[in-house]
Amino acid sequence: MNVPMLDLKAQHAQIRDAVLQKLQQVVEEQAFILGQPVQDLEVRIAALSHAKHGIGVASGTDGLLLPLKALDLKPGDEVITSPFTFFATAGAIHNAGARPVFADIDPRTYNLDPAAVEAAITPRTRAILPVHLYGQMAALERLLPLARSRGVALIEDACQAIGARRKVDGEWRTAGELGTATSFSFFPSKNLGGWGDGGMVVTSDDRMGERVRRLRTHGGAKLYHHDEVGVNSRLDALQAAVLLAKLPYLQSWSETRRANAAWFCEALKSVAAVRTPVTDPLNEHIFHQYVIEAERRDALQAHLKAKGIGTAIYYPVPLHLQPCFAYLGYAAGQFPVAEAASHRVLALPVYPELTEAQQAYVAGAIREFYA
Ligand SMILES: *Cc1c(COP(=O)(O)O)cnc(C)c1O
Repeated sequence: MNVPMLDLKAQHAQIRDAVLQKLQQVVEEQAFILGQPVQDLEVRIAALSHAKHGIGVASGTDGLLLPLKALDLKPGDEVITSPFTFFATAGAIHNAGARPVFADIDPRTYNLDPAAVEAAITPRTRAILPVHLYGQMAALERLLPLARSRGVALIEDACQAIGARRKVDGEWRTAGELGTATSFSFFPSKNLGGWGDGGMVVTSDDRMGERVRRLRTHGGAKLYHHDEVGVNSRLDALQAAVLLAKLPYLQSWSETRRANAAWFCEALKSVAAVRTPVTDPLNEHIFHQYVIEAERRDALQAHLKAKGIGTAIYYPVPLHLQPCFAYLGYAAGQFPVAEAASHRVLALPVYPELTEAQQAYVAGAIREFYA
């Protein structure tokens, strides 16, 4: 049997006609830059995240870069984030002109450990940038008060967590609802993926919204009048059309991912060498990834590959050990939780179109490896 890590063709079969119809409209209009589909999607994604403004940008990476640029960071300013995330999180901090400062993660959820963040705060700290890794939200009820008490921004990297929720001080809050600004990615493999790159910033801060909107079109609110130097980073109208057609399915896709995750947790709970993912009881996880910790992880991955099962390692090298960040002066051993995780994590296929037979095959292959 073949079980790919992700099967976008299976998804495409369900949505093909709806997407092509939306695309056709854009093609007939020949209006490819911003325009109606982008505006419509901005309104819908802002509503979904309980935020006031949505600003379509070219990628989730730029969705982080532009709010950081809007903070007018100076050389030496610091932004605290996780070393256990996709590279873009820290890359955006660097490219916005600030210094990435890492803090270790919680070993259960792999999200920023608020105590480690607190210890990393200095007078140069300008923002805290939590990542809602794999689709479950970071401990905002602790990170927000830290940011507020220091008067610094909290930027959410929700690129893997669109629609995820967390109970914050007794109330359900959605990713993007509480941060100063939040980035979503529409990279094709994300829970809501386009047919190419795309991203969205949401914010309820009017001034932040205005700045990001301006920054995405070369810093000019009015055509050919530039208040500041921005970039060219707009969500493509064709991508917005694809995403509008897919958006009605997002919730049921995320629910099916949750059900698939629950199935795996049950099927693997008797395997002592495997730790199944821990969902913080405060979170409603959207399982962008289903990540186990496994003994002899690399050998398990090779075994699964030989059986036709795709898996992935997110992430094999924590960011403080990346060569490009050597200038920050970190050393191996400094973030032991992130480093241990990088040697043990393995993402299994969890996409909504996964069949029961495929799931049983994956679980069986894992049990067989440890038998
Ligand atoms: C995907 C992702 C990004 C970047 O998104 P792109 O759309 O690929 O630029 C940033 N952070 C995290 C955690 C991601 O998973």
